[in-house]
Amino acid sequence: MPLRGRLRLRPRDGLAALAMTFAGGMLFVTSVPALAITATAERAGNPVADVYAPAAADVIVAAPQHLEVSEKAAPEEVETGGYAVEAAPPPLQSSVAGLGSVSLLQSDLVVWPVVDPSRTSSGFGPRSAPCSGCSTYHDGVDFTPGNGSPVMSIADGVVVLATENGGGLGVNVEVQHNIDGELVTSSYAHMQYGSLAVSVGQQVTAGQQLGLVGTTGQSTGPHLHLEMFGADGVRFDGMAWLHARLG
Ligand SMILES: [Zn+2]
Repeated sequence: MPLRGRLRLRPRDGLAALAMTFAGGMLFVTSVPALAITATAERAGNPVADVYAPAAADVIVAAPQHLEVSEKAAPEEVETGGYAVEAAPPPLQSSVAGLGSVSLLQSDLVVWPVVDPSRTSSGFGPRSAPCSGCSTYHDGVDFTPGNGSPVMSIADGVVVLATENGGGLGVNVEVQHNIDGELVTSSYAHMQYGSLAVSVGQQVTAGQQLGLVGTTGQSTGPHLHLEMFGADGVRFDGMAWLHARLG
């Protein structure tokens, strides 16, 4: 069947012309408002037509529209059950001494713990002890963004430790996270006295300030010592972990 410029919907055998008239000719009328001013003047005794005579109304007539639709045309059926709403994953429950059961909502947004993470000193792993009593196995990574620069939570979570007396770790904050459904803890050490911005049990968001870079505890200079560990408590390389997520 020749289509000749008509809109074609699902060409099928036995296409029957089912003309649907949307409008039997729509009429649009516009007009210039009649002006009240009638400036009639006389020139050499002859009356001059009104300068502001109202214009005639404009009339636009639109042609009727037709659309051919197959008699077999049927609306697409949306399969019920063709989609599903994913339920939010259940929060992780973590048991923390002195705090009880902690509920951790999953959040996969991760950020650097300092503004300039490119400045680092000691990486994760074996090393020669930088001070007497310092460990020969570095179980964290050291950022050196400068004394007093903010230390931020690497993800949403709950503060499970916030102390000014963290022994070798000095002013220390620990935050538990639920990342990809896994319990991950981040620990921030050697912060300045008086800089703690959070307390135990507090919920924090990614990037929220926890304290300021300092050199409290067993430290040879201002830096952030970041430790990371899972539910088993075994420290892993936080720098590699952060780079894998942040580039
Ligand atoms: Zn360190």
